[in-house]
Amino acid sequence: FRYGEHSEVVVPTPNGPITFGQNHPVVVVAGPCSVENEEMIVETAQAVKEYGVQFLRGGAYKPRTSPYAFQGHGESALALLAKAKEATGLGIITEIMDTDDLDKLIEVADVLQIGARNMQNFSLLKKLGATTKPVLLKRGLSATIEDWLMSAEYILAGGNPNVILCERGIRTFDRQFTRNTLDISAIPVLRTLTHLPIMIDPSHATGKSEFVPTMTMASIAAGADSLMIEVHPNPAKALSDGPQSLTLEGFKELMHEITALSKFF
Ligand code: PEP
Ligand code: MN
Repeated sequence: FRYGEHSEVVVPTPNGPITFGQNHPVVVVAGPCSVENEEMIVETAQAVKEYGVQFLRGGAYKPRTSPYAFQGHGESALALLAKAKEATGLGIITEIMDTDDLDKLIEVADVLQIGARNMQNFSLLKKLGATTKPVLLKRGLSATIEDWLMSAEYILAGGNPNVILCERGIRTFDRQFTRNTLDISAIPVLRTLTHLPIMIDPSHATGKSEFVPTMTMASIAAGADSLMIEVHPNPAKALSDGPQSLTLEGFKELMHEITALSKFF
């Protein structure tokens, strides 16, 4: 691939195939940080589908900094994601933390997420490289662009061409006002280095729901192919990442702006 040429990752979903890497229309992935119970995941799925998203996200296995924090409901959460998928036809994106869980996850997930903390878990990368399942590879907490692309290379070199890169903010010296620093320049930089589709996650990047809409607009303007946004029916009660989660109402409004702005890019 030469500069300017993009590869496409086509993901079959019950609602039809969705293509990452075309820049327009921007593919939107939305949902809670964690799958908490059947009611919330199905309610969220139905709402975000109505607002026009293509994928539901939701963690079953959660990589939490503290071992005492909610770790995700695991296998039972996968069954709930399957229910949400059946109810809406949305594609499902969920995180894989352990190669032992691959067989269970591959059943329900249409895209497997490798989280920031596992970006350099090379045995996990190799295992996914040996499948054809689309992989969403998040940028590591302090990973350089080269580190990140080398991790993508592990999956590609294994024979799996279906890799999507996700910038989710990097560690800088200030964590007081934002959780991470969104590296918006990663978008144009990656365009000179790789053909892979680019997703931006403004939720983990900022850590605060009030900043998510602005960073979403910036991402579209900079040429992102896709967005991942955390949404929760009751962020104040969320078991993880409540402060950065939009309400269903807030997300509905943002979807109007995304649709309007993405026409220009
Ligand atoms: C997440 O998507 O909920 C998550 C844990 O993201 P990250 O790996 O980017 O921190
Ligand atoms: Mn989260």
